[in-house]
Amino acid sequence: MSATLIVDSTTINSKDEFMTYRAMSSNTHFQRRQMLQLTALGAIAFGASSEVATGQESAAALPLPKRPLPVVDARFPVEVASGVFILLDKRVPLVPNIGIIVGRDTVLIVDCGLGIDSAESVLALARRLAPGRQVVLTVTHAHPEHGFGAQVFKNNGRIYYNALQKEYLGRAGQKLLDGFRTNILPPNHRYLLDNIVLTPPDQTYDQDHTTLDLGGRTVEFRTWGKAHTPGDQIVFLPDERIVFTGDLAEERMFPIVPLFPPMITAQDMNISQWEIALGDMLKLQPNLVVPGHGSIGGPEILAEVLAYFGNVRQSIGLATNVDRHLIEHIRAEYPTWENSEFIEPAVRYFLQET
Ligand SMILES: [Zn+2]
Repeated sequence: MSATLIVDSTTINSKDEFMTYRAMSSNTHFQRRQMLQLTALGAIAFGASSEVATGQESAAALPLPKRPLPVVDARFPVEVASGVFILLDKRVPLVPNIGIIVGRDTVLIVDCGLGIDSAESVLALARRLAPGRQVVLTVTHAHPEHGFGAQVFKNNGRIYYNALQKEYLGRAGQKLLDGFRTNILPPNHRYLLDNIVLTPPDQTYDQDHTTLDLGGRTVEFRTWGKAHTPGDQIVFLPDERIVFTGDLAEERMFPIVPLFPPMITAQDMNISQWEIALGDMLKLQPNLVVPGHGSIGGPEILAEVLAYFGNVRQSIGLATNVDRHLIEHIRAEYPTWENSEFIEPAVRYFLQET
């Protein structure tokens, strides 16, 4: 994770710079720029959340943000259509948007978050929202923050997704678990993955499209094989035209190109397929897009991710290695997007593709 903080489009690399920014925030833009130029760069690491974007002057009075625990907060589900609830991620890193879809007989949960506590709180909420229904958990893809807590559902419901995702979990699950603990989670958050048991689904489907009848409501599952991961899938509600995309789309965040060998290699993803998936999702003409991470919105979320990949390809042009200026050039085109650490793996991916 980068230790750079972005406030009001101003990049801040140290605590000193942040204090200077705060002191100057009520002054003119010109004066602020002058002060920042006088400040030493990068003297003190932040140890706070990687990036914060805010355009409000009042934000300067807030305390430094601390990196929040990546635990699902199940207190405030939002009902976006009758019987369709979303637990918003609140832009907390490693917390996914979660869906709870209530049918007459069955409640379907889309992703359960990272760790046992998150999964238990999601299950408890689903039971409260849909008492007496049988519980089905589906997982958009095999990355730990979406489903490494699924064991909670083993004796409390059924787990259902496609065969390729099951195969990938079986092949790479331990590597993902170890890699997330060691390289992705900060040391004081690693305990969240304690006691995780890699839990395969009870039932799978093999085809690229299937449906599940929840009782008075049918949901669709679609997969494109290997895209962001082997076997990621979307959940689509055809009546309401709501799509849960998993990490095939993030909103105002650089798409998670998870190229982190040896944990995840280029063979574990296929961005051309990912682009096809985005195009096909656009053809579904969704009214509401629930991305893997970030705010919910309309189809523009999908279009922006698709355009981003095209832009990165174009920006690379004839380059043959990962160049700092290239990364900065791409970064500058998306000033409001978070998680810029995912630009570099995207560039690396496209370079190895050519
Ligand atoms: Zn993912």
